Amino acid sequence: MKQVVVIGANFAGATAALEIKRKLKNQVEVTVIDRKEDSLYFPSLIWVPIGRRDISQVLIPRRPVFAKRGLKFVVDSATMIDPDTRIVETAKNGSFKYDELVIATGPRLNRDIAPGVRQHSCYVGFRTRCARHQG
Ligand SMILES: Cc1cc2nc3c(=O)[nH]c(=O)nc-3n(C[C@H](O)[C@H](O)[C@H](O)COP(=O)(O)OP(=O)(O)OC[C@H]3O[C@@H](n4cnc5c(N)ncnc54)[C@H](O)[C@@H]3O)c2cc1C
Repeated sequence: MKQVVVIGANFAGATAALEIKRKLKNQVEVTVIDRKEDSLYFPSLIWVPIGRRDISQVLIPRRPVFAKRGLKFVVDSATMIDPDTRIVETAKNGSFKYDELVIATGPRLNRDIAPGVRQHSCYVGFRTRCARHQG
């Protein structure tokens, strides 16, 4: 059976992992690695700083979704990828061998893209910083 490893379990990673399993069924074993237990529903984050939602209301548990469809879910950080040996190393759960790898670790915020952005902007895309603006 082919081993598929997906790093990142939000919109891109979860969609890829679920679709690969749905289409290839028992031909693949899919392991999804994400450093967070729950998925953060970004579009609703805008309501958190103004107190219209609690952070707990924009978190979606991943484990039951993956378990129901026969995917393995590992909560951990991927720390290294070795494309020669086809191995993903994690911080706490050792290494995972793959035949196919999907990297869906998301965009990285660049607050230095233009003068003034860092000083004058407030980013609501992190669950902790978002919550800190409440009230
Ligand atoms: C406030 C806000 C509102 C938004 N509203 C909309 C909207 O209405 N419509 C829309 O289309 N888009 C919206 N977006 C943009 C949208 O959220 C992003 O485009 C989308 O989240 C990108 O999905 P992704 O799966 O590529 O990455 P992400 O959502 O960033 O997911 C990456 C995942 O990878 C995991 N990860 C990262 N590094 C590692 C690692 N080393 N090891 C293990 N796991 C790792 C993270 O924990 C995370 O779960 C919004 C964004 C924000 C901030």
